[in-house]
Amino acid sequence: MSAGDKLFGRLLNRHPPPPLETLQAPSMPGVGLQMHLDADGRVLHLTGPLRHVLAQQVPGARAPHLLDFLLPHCSLVVEGTPSDWQGQALDLDFYTLSGQTLHLRGWVQPLAEAWLLQLLDIGDLLLERRQSQVREQCQLLALQIGEQLRLCSLTRLPEMLTEQLQCLAQRFHIPCIALALLDEQEQGWQIHQHFSGFDAPQLWQTGQRLGTGLDSLNGSAPQHLNPLEHPRLQGIFGNAEGFVVPYHDAQGVAAWLLCGCYPAQQRAPDVSERDWLQFAAALAGPLLERSREHRHHLQMERLESLQALLGTGWWEMFSDRAEVQLAPSLASALNLASERLALNDWLDQVHPADREELRSRLQDLLDEGTPLLLCVRSYRPDAALPPSWYRLQGQALGVGRHRRLVGFMLDISDIKNQEQHAAAAHARLDNLIASSPAVIYVQRYVEGALQPTFFSDSLLPLLGWTLDDCATTALVERVHPEDRDRYFERTRQLLREGSVSARYRLRDSRGDYHWLLDEAKLLRDDLGLPVEAVGLWLDVTEATLAAEQVKQSEERYRILVEDSPAMICRYRPDLSLSFGNRPLAAYLECTPEQLPGLNLGNWMSAQQRESFIQRLARLSPEFPVSTAEINLQLPGREHAWWVWSDRGVFDEHGQLLEIQAVGRDNTEVRRSQQQLTQSAKMATLGEMATGLAHEINQPLNVMRMAIINVLKRLGNGDVQVDYLTDKLNRIDAQVQRAARVVDHMRVFGRRSEIEQQPFNPAQAIEGTLSLLAEGMRGKGVDLRISETGFEVQVRGYVDQLEQVLINLMVNARDALLSKRETNPEFKPWIAVYAERDQQWVRLWVEDNGGGIDPRLLERIFEPFFTTKPVGVGTGLGLSVSYGIVENMGGKLSVRNSTEGARFCIELPVVQVD
Ligand code: ADP
Repeated sequence: MSAGDKLFGRLLNRHPPPPLETLQAPSMPGVGLQMHLDADGRVLHLTGPLRHVLAQQVPGARAPHLLDFLLPHCSLVVEGTPSDWQGQALDLDFYTLSGQTLHLRGWVQPLAEAWLLQLLDIGDLLLERRQSQVREQCQLLALQIGEQLRLCSLTRLPEMLTEQLQCLAQRFHIPCIALALLDEQEQGWQIHQHFSGFDAPQLWQTGQRLGTGLDSLNGSAPQHLNPLEHPRLQGIFGNAEGFVVPYHDAQGVAAWLLCGCYPAQQRAPDVSERDWLQFAAALAGPLLERSREHRHHLQMERLESLQALLGTGWWEMFSDRAEVQLAPSLASALNLASERLALNDWLDQVHPADREELRSRLQDLLDEGTPLLLCVRSYRPDAALPPSWYRLQGQALGVGRHRRLVGFMLDISDIKNQEQHAAAAHARLDNLIASSPAVIYVQRYVEGALQPTFFSDSLLPLLGWTLDDCATTALVERVHPEDRDRYFERTRQLLREGSVSARYRLRDSRGDYHWLLDEAKLLRDDLGLPVEAVGLWLDVTEATLAAEQVKQSEERYRILVEDSPAMICRYRPDLSLSFGNRPLAAYLECTPEQLPGLNLGNWMSAQQRESFIQRLARLSPEFPVSTAEINLQLPGREHAWWVWSDRGVFDEHGQLLEIQAVGRDNTEVRRSQQQLTQSAKMATLGEMATGLAHEINQPLNVMRMAIINVLKRLGNGDVQVDYLTDKLNRIDAQVQRAARVVDHMRVFGRRSEIEQQPFNPAQAIEGTLSLLAEGMRGKGVDLRISETGFEVQVRGYVDQLEQVLINLMVNARDALLSKRETNPEFKPWIAVYAERDQQWVRLWVEDNGGGIDPRLLERIFEPFFTTKPVGVGTGLGLSVSYGIVENMGGKLSVRNSTEGARFCIELPVVQVD
C-alpha cells in the first residue's frame, strides 16, 4: 500500500485516524490548505494553494474564526476549541469565491502554542463516492426490477412490467416511460408496455406501432433525442425532448426503453449511461427471456402433442455409451419403462427380420455419417396383434467427438396396412383381369382415329391375339363382315357421345367368331379434347346364342299358342282373363289384345258360372287338372259346348293363383249327338206308332160304344138324364185320355232343354207307361210295374230318360214277341222296378225273352249294332241310350237273368235343398 493509498483510505474514513505521534510529522505546505489557529479557533495564518479560493464570511475581520470560512452546518463538527478536535477527522465545507462549496478534510495538531489545521481537498472523492452510491442504488434497483420480472407468474407479467416502469418513472421523475419491442413480424418497433405520470402527456399506447425509425439510431448507448436532430422520431416523442436506451441481446438491439419529455442529463445527472443500460436490460431481458421461454414451452408442448398424435418421437444415440434416449411419447408408444435404455434393448424392440439391417445402418451412420432411412416392424412376441410399422430416420450432427446421432421414429402402420391392402387388391384385380373373360383395352385418340395401345393379358386366352394383331386395320379385318357397320358406328358414337355399348363378332386366331360386348368410355383432357378410350370386351357368345335360342323357342311357343286351333288362355280364380289366344278371341268376337281383363263368366248363365267355380274350387296342388264340357252363350250364337281342361297354378301355401286352360269347341259334336238322339227318338216314335194307334183306338172304341148306346136309347125314347150324363162323362174321360197321349207324344218329340234339370225318375217311368202300357197289354205282354213312388231327384232331361226306358221296353217286347212266334204257349212279361241308396238310384227293366247271346253282350251298345232284319232295327237304340245315361253321370248296363235280359239304369242322386 502506497502512502497515497493510505492517505485516501484515511480520507475516506475507512481507517481510524493516525496515531498522534505520526501527526507530529511536518506539515505539507505544498498541497491543500493549512490553517494556523489559536486556542479559540481563530485563524492566524493561512498557507497552501487552496487559500486563494476561500471566501471569508465576514470579510475584513482581523482575526476571523474558523467558522467564518465554513458553511453553517459545519459548526457542529468544530464545536468547542481546537484542543477538542484533536484526533478526529474533520470534514469541513468552505465557502469559495466562485460560490461552489469546497469540501476539505483535515485534522488538528498542536504546533507551538497554536494549532495547525491541515486540510486536503476531498471534493472529487466525495463526488466519486456519491456517484458510486447512486450506481449502487441503480444496480440494486435494476436487480430488483429484473428479479420481480423473472419471478412473477406469467399472467402477472404485463402488470408487473407496468409496475416496474412506474417505479422507474417515479424514481427518476420521468413523465412518460415505455418499453418498445420488435413487433411480431419483426418489421418495426411496437410499444409493449408504457406508463405515464398523473399529469404527463399521453405519448404512447400499448401495441402502438412505431415503425423502423428507431433503427436509425446508434443502438450501442442511451441517446438524448433532440427533435431537431431526429426529425424521423419527432412523431414518436411528440416533438418533445426524449431519451432512449437500447437493450442488446445476441442478435443486436432487441428492445428500447423510451423516456418522453425527459432531459435526462438535467434530471438525473448522477445516473450513468451504464445504469440506464442496466435498467433497460433489467426490464427487457427477463421479459424477452420469459416470452422466449414461453414460446419455447408452447412449441415443445405442440411438438409433444404432435408426436403423440402421429405416434412419432425423436431418438438420440450416445455412441460412446451404446445408449439411446427416446422421446417420452415414443417410449410410451413402445411400452418402455424408461426413456433411456441400452442400444441393444432398443434393438430388441425391433422385429428380428429388420434388426440386423437397422444395426448395420446405425453403424454406417455412426462411422460415415450416412443418413439413415428404414422402415422397421416393432417386435412384440407376446402380443396377438400384428406388429406396428415404424419409419426410422436419423442423421449425424456435428463432427468428431461431438458427433450426435439423432432422428425420429414415425408410426406408419396405417400407411403400411393400406399399402398392403392396396397391393393385395391390386394383385387380386390383376389376377381377376387376367383370368376374366373380359379384355380391358385402351385406344389412344390420334387425329380423329382410335389406335389400340393396351390390352390386358386376358386377350391371349380369349382371342389368341397379341397387341400387334390389334392394329387398327388388322382389328377391322377381324370384325365379322356382317358386323362391320356396327363396329364403325360404335367408334363414331364413342367419339360423339363419350360412351358406347355395342355387340359384334370378332374372329379369334383359330378362325372362330366370338360375340363380344364392347363397353367403352372416352376420356378427355382439361380442355375437353379426347385423349383416349378405355373399354372392355366381354365374351358374350354363349349368352347371345342362348338368348337367340330362348327367343326362337319363345317364338315357337308363341306361334304354337297363337296359331293353335285350340283355345288357350290364362285366367284368375275370379274368371278374369290375363291372356287368351287368337281362337279364343275369335269365338268371343274380339282381338287377342282385348282379351285381358274380360271375364269368362260373362258368357255363362248364373248356374253355369256357379258350377264352373265349384269345379275350380276342387282343384288342388295334388290334383291340379280338371276337364269338363262347359256350355256358354256366345255373342251371335245360340249355344256353344266347349270341352275345357283347366290346370291350376298354386303358390307355396296352396293358394290358387291362376288357371291355365285349353279348350276345344265341341258344339258340332254335341249337336250331331243331339240330332242322333233326336232321330233315335223319332225312330222310337215310329216304332210306337202301332202302339199308339191302339192307344188312341181304345178310347175311340169306348166313345163309339157309348154313343151307339145313347143313340139306341134315344131311338127308344127311353132317355133319362142320369143315363145320358153318365155316358157323356165316360166319353169326356176317354177324350181326355186320348188328349194326354197326344200331348205326351208332342212333348217327347221336342228337343231336350239345353240345361239339365233335377227331376224324379218315377216321372219318366210314368210317361213311358202312358205311351206304351196299352200297346203292350194289347200284344199280350204282362207288365209288372213295382211301386217306385219314392222321392228322389236325378239331374238330366226327363224326356231323354223316358226315351231310354221306351227303348229298353220296346227291345224287350220285340224279344218276347219273336219268342212267342215260335212258342204260342209262351207267357211274356216285362218287369219295371226301382231301388235307391244314398248316392244312386237304379231302374231295372227285365223280361223273360230268353236274354242276349253272351257273345253279343259286348257289342249291343255299339252304334248300328242290330240283330233285327234290315228296315226293322236301326242299331241306334242302345247306343243312344248309353250316351244319354252317361251324360246324366250314370251308367247303363245289362246282364242275362235266368229267364231273359235285365237292363239297369244307374243314376247319381242329386241333393236338392
Ligand atoms: P235295334 O233294336 O234297332 O236292333 P238296339 O240298339 O235297340 O237296336 O238293340 C240292339 C240289339 O240288342 C238288338 O238287335 C237285339 O239283338 C239286342 N237286344 C236288345 N234288347 C234285348 C232284349 N231285351 N232281349 C234280347 N235281345 C235284346
